[in-house]
Amino acid sequence: MLKKLFARKQNKNPKAHIIPRAEHTFSRQRVSKNALTVLYRLNNAGFQAYLVGGCVRDILLNITPKDFDVATDATPEELRRLFRNCRLIGRRFRLAHIYFGRDIIEVATFRTEPSKMKFMKHQSESGRILRDNVYGDITSDALRRDFTINALYYNIADFSIVDYCKGIDDIESRTLTLIGDPVTRYREDPVRILRAIRFSAKLDLDISAATAKPIKSSLKLLPEVPSSRIYEESLKLLLTGHSIATMKKLREYGIHAALLPPSKHYTEQDWAFIEQGLANTDSRIKSRQTTSPGFLFALLLWPGYLAYCQKLLGDPPYHYGQKHEAMDKLLQDVNKALAIPKRFTLMSRSIWDLQDRLLNVKKHQAFRLLSHPSFRAAYDFLELRGQFDKELKQSAQWWHRFQNGSDEQQDDMLEELPKAKGRRRQRKPRAQQDENV
Ligand code: ATP
Ligand code: MG
Repeated sequence: MLKKLFARKQNKNPKAHIIPRAEHTFSRQRVSKNALTVLYRLNNAGFQAYLVGGCVRDILLNITPKDFDVATDATPEELRRLFRNCRLIGRRFRLAHIYFGRDIIEVATFRTEPSKMKFMKHQSESGRILRDNVYGDITSDALRRDFTINALYYNIADFSIVDYCKGIDDIESRTLTLIGDPVTRYREDPVRILRAIRFSAKLDLDISAATAKPIKSSLKLLPEVPSSRIYEESLKLLLTGHSIATMKKLREYGIHAALLPPSKHYTEQDWAFIEQGLANTDSRIKSRQTTSPGFLFALLLWPGYLAYCQKLLGDPPYHYGQKHEAMDKLLQDVNKALAIPKRFTLMSRSIWDLQDRLLNVKKHQAFRLLSHPSFRAAYDFLELRGQFDKELKQSAQWWHRFQNGSDEQQDDMLEELPKAKGRRRQRKPRAQQDENV
């Protein structure tokens, strides 16, 4: 017991490894002008000022950072006095956002680990951190971070890198390692499991053996996390351009079923379809086209939707109400794990519902379908399915020609379609809206 306490104590006061300017590759030229302005102003006012987290990690890995985060010993009130363009946000832990037009530099006062908080319940029964809102110093700030490579500080005072957790070694060996005892760190915040997968896939890093080992046994903690947070993390996992690599890793560790319970029963064929869709999503993101969570979840849950239909309704065809009954049940089960906002599930539902309608289009329906707000997404989905099925491919090609045809060509194509009994001919709508996915 004594030995354990002693070991913990030592671990909490590590010595900083300081890498001077001449011995690292971090270049200030890669830091945004606005971030440098913030750092210099803090420094000139006598405060400590460091870049920290993803931006330091990414520059060292030769990746362009998404944004720049600053850590300092200035309190939020001091920050407000120092920066006119400052807004304090967050109820629990106050952060400063410094505005430069649309660019925001996030400045956080050093925090400490939750156990330093007295007289307050800071953990749930299972050890999950509930509060994390006490100021500290750079050492405590480093230790409460998740991975060693996310706990590197760039000091504007002398351009050195400050490393408390051997993060530089991990950058060099391209390894992802949790700071501290992995079992405890996953217990404190099970979302770190998802973050481990995200960073290893996005940055192409190996997860160290010690960090990887407790992942499977910690999965049971994920349901404790609010489903809205799991939803946010899932978007970061799958809608930031590295979804193929990420999904492979999620499956490798058996995490997919914790996020999307129906995927537990997916076949290899189902995964091949999903992977093809994810490949399209990744390339859309890389070419800066829009992607919608509605389309993403339509894709990820499609085999589940078909399975729910089969289980609840037997063999097709199903009428509209029946299909929505299966969708209700499926989405109810999914929402227990991850809370997809309704506006996106509505889009997924439309995409699924439109599949049969696109396939069995009647003469009077074609223009009405074309002007449906989810037509574009449903068509893309049909096109994707067509890559695995000849009949569907023909249908997708028909819709491709119909969308792009002249008035005469469209009229000719309508003539080829079957007529629905007892219906009047639909007039062509004046404006045909479509929606990008
Ligand atoms: P990205 O490029 O994806 O934004 P990031 O490392 O900047 O990566 P953020 O989620 O923006 O990730 O978090 C900023 C920093 O805050 C991280 O680098 C890490 O140091 C710390 N952090 C974030 N989430 C956690 C967590 N769950 N537990 C501990 N530290 C965390
Ligand atoms: Mg970040």
